[in-house]
Amino acid sequence: MAKRAYNFNPGPAALPLEVLQQAQEEFVDFQGIGMSIMEISHRSKQYEQVNDEAQSLVKELLGVPAGYQVLFLQGGASTQFAMIPMNFLPQGKAAGYVLTGSWADKAYTEAKGIGETYVAATGEAGGFRSIPAVSDIEARPGSAYVHLTSNETIAGSQFAAYPDTGSVPLIGDFSSDIMCRPVDVSKFSLLYAGAQKNLGPSGVTLVIVSDELLGQASKGVPTMLRYDTHSKTKSLYNTPPVYSVYIMNLVLKWIKGKGGLEGMEQFNRDKTKLIYDAIDGSGGFYQGLVDANSRSLMNITFALGSEELEKKFIQESEKEGFVGLKGHRDVGHMRASTYNAVPYESCKALADFMNEFRQRNG
Ligand code: PMP
Repeated sequence: MAKRAYNFNPGPAALPLEVLQQAQEEFVDFQGIGMSIMEISHRSKQYEQVNDEAQSLVKELLGVPAGYQVLFLQGGASTQFAMIPMNFLPQGKAAGYVLTGSWADKAYTEAKGIGETYVAATGEAGGFRSIPAVSDIEARPGSAYVHLTSNETIAGSQFAAYPDTGSVPLIGDFSSDIMCRPVDVSKFSLLYAGAQKNLGPSGVTLVIVSDELLGQASKGVPTMLRYDTHSKTKSLYNTPPVYSVYIMNLVLKWIKGKGGLEGMEQFNRDKTKLIYDAIDGSGGFYQGLVDANSRSLMNITFALGSEELEKKFIQESEKEGFVGLKGHRDVGHMRASTYNAVPYESCKALADFMNEFRQRNG
């Protein structure tokens, strides 16, 4: 078999090898039907089973309580930035946004064009090196909702705990950390995630929304952009991204086989510790870009002493088979994305490479 890269891509990102292999096995002839899953109706019993199975696995893995709908939508998380205020930010109400970096800012900017907003907390003064303290997040009484970004993919920061917003609905963008650890879904009225980091390929966006919030949706929103269009039809109102949902279903089974979200959390802690230890034990050769209490389990950002050294690090790491370590163009430096499907061995290899590179260049 071809040698697999040490894949630290930020998204689309690594998928479990076992999933790719199973998909390969079933690619040409799905369950003996003489066709692939992409070549049959989304209303066939074969696809309906995939759709149902994926939906129940989401519920099971995340412990989704009764009174919530699990939806598979299209348009990526970016479409959620608009759909949320279109549906849940009526005139006369304001929505609070917790600003933690680029992605929170994108969600906020989109909402500003649709309705009234306010900043519920911001980490801007500290250069987004840390997530605001939960106690500093302001949920103004009577707000439409408060929105937060659970994991800032570009900055490399992640909420350690979520605020209690009382009667104000809490909405979370979990695009880059969904299912990396257990989460109390009942704290949220809506959470969403593009699949292409932790759940599968791009093309499908997971949305979990409470019936209570659904009941408050604004009228007059175009059909495809209304949540109830999809909740009433098991996400089969129109043709779904069949192959993306199929792969997501395989990834969900893989997560379950790894001990569910508790298993994932332990796995992610073990593997990220290798890299954070390489940063912290480097005597300043590597500098983390996020304060320790806000560090992400999914995106590890760090700098080296000079641009020249960073260039050398990238060049040499690429020669060793490492992929995706260049930081986002907005912040530069380095970023290792260590999503669920990134193997322990890749993280061990990266930590070893970092230590060895420091010895040669420190
Ligand atoms: N939110 C976060 C936290 C993200 O990381 C991303 C994608 N990198 C998005 C939203 C946008 O997702 P999409 O490309 O699916 O629209």
